[in-house]
Amino acid sequence: MSIVFSQLPSITNGALLRCPLDTAIEQLSTDSRLSPASTNVLFFAIKGKNHNGHDYLLDLYKKGIRLFVVETVSPNSLQELPNANILLVENSLAALQDIAAYHRQTFQLPVVAVTGSNGKTIVKEWLYQLLSPDFSIVKSPKSYNSQLGVPLSVWQINISHTLGIFEAGVSRSGEMQHLERIIQPTMGIFTNIGPAHNEGFDSLAQKIAEKALLFKHCHHLFCCSDHTEVWKHLQTSYPNATLVSWGFKEGGTWKVQTQKSRKSTHIELIGLSTTHSFSLPFTDDASIENILHCMVALLHLQVVPSVIQERISGIVNIPMRLELKAGRDNNYLIDDTYNNDPEGLRIALQFMQQQDMKRQKMVILSDMLETGIPPELLYPRVAALLKEKGISHFIGIGSAIGNYKGHFPSHSWFYPDTASFLQVLPNLRLENFLILIKGARKAHFEQVVQMLAQKIHRTLLEINLNALAHNLNVFKGMLPANTKLMIMVKAFAYGSGSFEVAHLLQYHKVDYLAVAYTDEGIALRENNIQLPIMVMNPTTDEFGKLVQYNLQPEIYSFHQLDALLQFLVQAGKEVLKQIPIHLAIDTGMHRLGFEAPDIDKLCLRLQASGVRVVSIFSHLVGADGFEHDEFTNHQAIAFQSIAKKIEDQLGYPVIKHLLNSPGITRFPQYTLDMVRLGIGLYGIESLGHPQDKKLQSVGTLKTIISQIRTVKKGESVGYSRKGLAEHDLKVATLAIGYADGYARILSNGVGKVWINGQFAPIIGNICMDMCMVDITEIEAQEGDEVELFGPHLSVNTVAEWSKTISYEILTSVSERVKRVFYLD
Ligand SMILES: *Cc1c(COP(=O)(O)O)cnc(C)c1O
Repeated sequence: MSIVFSQLPSITNGALLRCPLDTAIEQLSTDSRLSPASTNVLFFAIKGKNHNGHDYLLDLYKKGIRLFVVETVSPNSLQELPNANILLVENSLAALQDIAAYHRQTFQLPVVAVTGSNGKTIVKEWLYQLLSPDFSIVKSPKSYNSQLGVPLSVWQINISHTLGIFEAGVSRSGEMQHLERIIQPTMGIFTNIGPAHNEGFDSLAQKIAEKALLFKHCHHLFCCSDHTEVWKHLQTSYPNATLVSWGFKEGGTWKVQTQKSRKSTHIELIGLSTTHSFSLPFTDDASIENILHCMVALLHLQVVPSVIQERISGIVNIPMRLELKAGRDNNYLIDDTYNNDPEGLRIALQFMQQQDMKRQKMVILSDMLETGIPPELLYPRVAALLKEKGISHFIGIGSAIGNYKGHFPSHSWFYPDTASFLQVLPNLRLENFLILIKGARKAHFEQVVQMLAQKIHRTLLEINLNALAHNLNVFKGMLPANTKLMIMVKAFAYGSGSFEVAHLLQYHKVDYLAVAYTDEGIALRENNIQLPIMVMNPTTDEFGKLVQYNLQPEIYSFHQLDALLQFLVQAGKEVLKQIPIHLAIDTGMHRLGFEAPDIDKLCLRLQASGVRVVSIFSHLVGADGFEHDEFTNHQAIAFQSIAKKIEDQLGYPVIKHLLNSPGITRFPQYTLDMVRLGIGLYGIESLGHPQDKKLQSVGTLKTIISQIRTVKKGESVGYSRKGLAEHDLKVATLAIGYADGYARILSNGVGKVWINGQFAPIIGNICMDMCMVDITEIEAQEGDEVELFGPHLSVNTVAEWSKTISYEILTSVSERVKRVFYLD
């Protein structure tokens, strides 16, 4: 039933430019860096804002790819790809969607589609867990719910599947009709409606109407009747569909009553003629809302209540993400233990490739369950994928995977189950690896992670790498295409973790990195970062090291320049080319840099010595303050005239750059040849500029509640008796203190933390390793998570409380706080 290349013109309305060998299409790929090197892969050259797939055709051809969908092709590149099949279309993304839609309509299975503002991925994953005993299910990997993700998800459907569950997300009007055409759902769940993506719609009603287009051909719809606008809209738009709703208020199909206890929630679903009771293994409102959607869907799929209860009790609140963290014995771990399917493996391997550390790569993989692909095809394919991604070491766990030993890398080991692997693990002496741990839920690989991970003092700085990449793209979107981008990763990448961040930046091909000190640059080189790196403040005895590690100094004074020239005399002329420099110009910061009167002398020295200048820059003192705009303009004008003078005298073009993050958003007229992005990448907005509103929060500082107690009226909390109880208090002790970077100035109610949806003020003085908060009004238990800054509490707010700036908050988080990096 597979589609062959020669069918594509009729499916996509494209033109067959060439088809020397008609081939069946097995996999679709849109990312040149991830394309598996197989002749059955169809590559779509897509033009994005920051990326053009057409630039990679020759690379892919050399890798072995033979099937291409393109929007343009020159006679030249046709010659370069002699044996390729090429389909010319107007729009490659639309062609991808056409092909997925065509694929979908060749299958008759029931399909559930999930949309809404929040909870789509959880509802999809839970439905999958709850229904997998009854169906062979195909579902969206991760949160693949976009114009690109949905066709890739749907393409996975094969003959063995008996149910599909896909999520669909839209950010502006006009998008949903495409997703509907691809998914062709027969049942729909509308989770809820919130403010996300408001800018893409005229009104709430328009947003609801757009999302509801997904359900055009559904015969069953599920929603919460308390979201009145959603419920009413579905009622009036789809009178022929069976609409099943639930709500805490009267009116819907099921009225819900809940009663929460410490760790569970008792729930009654009251229908017209029956009432069902259930016990849920959690108490938070979001989980309750998500599970209710699943429960009413299950009831209407005729799953009996006792079975629903049994399955809900076993439900796992799956971490929807890949985590990168430090392991024992100098290993680094990528933790992806909640599911295991070919697409998920591909994503995880991509992430692994991105973290291109100087370490050998190992994958620990369980059997893949319910893929619908026969094992004799599946495991050789998995093995080929590992080989292609440079995986040198492999551990396979399960009864199936071991039957295909011969296909895997030469350094491979196999174990029949997780328990037998755990027994030998302590003797394996795994050191200096980057290890991907990926297993089906049933394999319980969290036990493997536990043995390999470093003990984590439960205070964490979590870094959301998706948000980081998103912010990078927001800034790229503000810049003209030919403007270069230098990213400031000084101070441990603003506290976020220098090489993990640098790897992501390298993967996304920024032009330059900058650090403050030579050691920071060396650490990056030692971790396989190959991008050009500027060192802002090298000492004069470090030039040898700069050459050795291919780092480029900023030169800001004659003292430094003289030392450099002296070094060059000793090191010899060949070194000259290896140490290009960046000239700092002082236009008002009065920190580092040459001033206007120095320029003639400076140019004479440079010309005489033959030192190559790569860039000239200056730094703005007040780009984030309206009150300084006049001074900013003055700096910009002064800089441009000095830079031109230097360039003229040197007689060759030099990269000129001036703007930092707030400069990029506020002064596009001074973009010049390059910009230096710092704090904005980490998601911190300045001045509430509309562009900044698009930024996402990157870092979350978290800890846990170590202990909870009651403090009687008149007693006090903490050192120096500062936290006086004016009435009986419930007090939680948190595992974070000023030695972790949680500033002592936040003591005594100045700072607040976020616990279970509410703010809790600090009570008493902050200690070195701990602090106490007042949770009298908050439902909380020992072990609960606490956010000190992050999505619910911005770094800017904490900075304001601390009487400082966000830069200091970020960079103060001490090295003792473990960094965990993740991808949603
Ligand atoms: C730190 C720094 C930047 C980045 O500033 P942000 O405000 O964080 O964007 C740019 N240029 C120089 C010289 C810097 O030291």
